[in-house]
Amino acid sequence: MKTVRSPVAAARLAGSGPHPIVLVPTMGALHEGHLSLICHAKILAGRKGCVWVSVFVNPVQFGPGEDFSRYPRPFARDARLCREAGADVLFAPKPTGMYAPDHSVFVEESRLSAGLCGASRSGHFRGVCTVVAKLFHLTRADIAVFGEKDWQQLAVIRRMVRDLDFPVRIAAAPTIREPDGLAMSSRNAYLATEERAQAPVLRRALLAARERLLSGGSLPASRLVQSVIRDISRRPLAVVDYVEVVDADTLAPLRCAEHNVLVAVAVRFGKTRLIDNIHIP
Ligand code: AMP
Repeated sequence: MKTVRSPVAAARLAGSGPHPIVLVPTMGALHEGHLSLICHAKILAGRKGCVWVSVFVNPVQFGPGEDFSRYPRPFARDARLCREAGADVLFAPKPTGMYAPDHSVFVEESRLSAGLCGASRSGHFRGVCTVVAKLFHLTRADIAVFGEKDWQQLAVIRRMVRDLDFPVRIAAAPTIREPDGLAMSSRNAYLATEERAQAPVLRRALLAARERLLSGGSLPASRLVQSVIRDISRRPLAVVDYVEVVDADTLAPLRCAEHNVLVAVAVRFGKTRLIDNIHIP
């Protein structure tokens, strides 16, 4: 595995042959969820393609007061995991290499980014789109793999690729979970023992919502939202940021939960904000 730290070197190394480059963008602190994306990327790359994993804690997608400075950065461990998972290139630029001091061009998606996490994290998706666009250019990826855990991010990136004609195919991979149902996340490491014990309530509440919907056929979205909020709020340390019932493709709020439903939640445990979702086609 090659480790590349400079964007210029990355751009020089990329696009060197007829076989696909498959990119897995991450912020590091890798876990089984990331490794499943790398595994998916290897299948998409085939025997002759090349799997790039980027590890970059992107400053422009963090808002003031968010966890940019304390985000975990176990680089040596990440490099080992990438190597063991069979990545061909680890691209780990420094922030100063990615953004000039007077960087002034950003990519903004204006519709799908507005609700859900976009409503409580102003500027977040602008930062995500900007860095992903840069990663696509630098690596000249043919395919990029993203996790369904960040459903809104996946939808926003797909829209960016469609609307700006990026020559890249977006592949989605399912959410990998702990045995108790908690979606794996680099931020789970922040949870105190009692918070960690209560965090699986997100998954349980979403599964209960799916049961309610499947047994009723269709439901007013507001009733579904209320039931999820009630289930989550039974856990005393859980503070609901949002529970929303939206169309899984357009992310538009639904009045009636019937077809292609996405129930998405964000919940705080102390200073840690966790997200999860369930797709009910
Ligand atoms: P992050 O490092 O959190 O920015 O995530 C990098 C990529 O890994 C994104 O495409 C995420 O959606 C994906 N990802 C994060 N957690 C999981 C998970 N538990 N299962 C599958 N993919 C995940």
